[in-house]
Amino acid sequence: MVTGGTGLVGQGIEEWVSTDPTAQAEEEYIFLSSKDGNLLNMAECRAIFEKHAPTHVIHLAAKVGGLFNNLKYKVEFYRENMLINDNVMECCRIYKVQKLVSCLSTCVFPDKTTYPIDETMVHAGPPHSSNEGYAYAKRMIDVMNRCYRDEYGCNFTSVIPTNIYGKHDNFSIDGGHVIPGLIHKCFLAEKNGTPFTIWGSGSPLRQFIYNVDLGALMVWVLRSYDSVDPIILSVGEEDEVSIADAARMVAKGMAYSGEVVFDTTKADGQFKKTASNARLRALRPDFKFTPMAQGLAETCAWFKANSAVARGGPGC
Ligand code: NAP
Ligand code: GDP
Repeated sequence: MVTGGTGLVGQGIEEWVSTDPTAQAEEEYIFLSSKDGNLLNMAECRAIFEKHAPTHVIHLAAKVGGLFNNLKYKVEFYRENMLINDNVMECCRIYKVQKLVSCLSTCVFPDKTTYPIDETMVHAGPPHSSNEGYAYAKRMIDVMNRCYRDEYGCNFTSVIPTNIYGKHDNFSIDGGHVIPGLIHKCFLAEKNGTPFTIWGSGSPLRQFIYNVDLGALMVWVLRSYDSVDPIILSVGEEDEVSIADAARMVAKGMAYSGEVVFDTTKADGQFKKTASNARLRALRPDFKFTPMAQGLAETCAWFKANSAVARGGPGC
């Protein structure tokens, strides 16, 4: 059972399992949305577990947003994520789920740190202040995974994805992440003949993973990764790009050739959060990531074809 199954990551898992012979022959997936029950509410959460009786859970449901929403709604990012995670983890214990995989994020890592960041550093100092509500709530998943193992013998673990992009993202300009925000803004710039505006200086660095690649890796974690300790799911350090480079790739994916401007009155957020994927590479040396230009081309084509219905897009 995949909580938050209708979101960016859930849809990446769904696309990947639809092509995986083992998943098709031997596994049954249930993708939940908030319409199946509000996980902020324990009674609704329990009803979901009673209805579906899942053997395994991938827990994605969360209050998720980009830098600018994290800056504005720190309390809601903390409280909603704490409540959802508490309800889901406790239900996994009560209903004897065999394995639970939850999702952290590289923005939970300390702001003042050495690079590359690795899995041992989750609690090694305060996160960047821009997203401290979200980051502390997410860090508690890692703490509680060990507590549930020690006290109840639960098989809980977590993954730490870097920035994610892909089809079915939240394309809201104000509330979403950088790639969907840039795609939406580029679409409007082309349509209205206005400049394509990138927020901040463009110099911050990020590692981006395509949601279908993350879907493949999360299912592998569910089947084969046997440790309570989190694992970073990311492209390599050499694949880190600046926001300005990412914006140029978006412009290419959208076939936009107009003016590009930087609005430096907007925040840059954390300068970088360069993460090591050495733990992943030791276990999956063969895994091939989708090149960013290809993933972006697919995402841009999808957005153009679905602009009327895309979440947070111009039609919604
Ligand atoms: P998303 O696209 O915003 O999707 C969120 C999902 O959670 C949706 O299915 C939503 O249901 C569901 N949800 C939200 N509140 C809920 C509630 N109260 N009860 C039940 N369901 C609820 O998010 P995402 O980007 O796929 O993120 C998935 C996970 O990855 C999250 O844990 C996030 O923290 C983590 N992550 C994301 C990124 C990123 O760049 N996006 C990076 C690192 C980690 P509806 O569709 O019905 O609203
Ligand atoms: P973060 O990686 O957690 O900081 O979250 P985001 O996905 O929101 O990326 C934020 C970075 O992208 C910051 O450096 C922003 O200044 C920059 N950025 C540029 N344009 C945009 C945009 O349209 N939306 C968002 N969310 N960020 C933008």
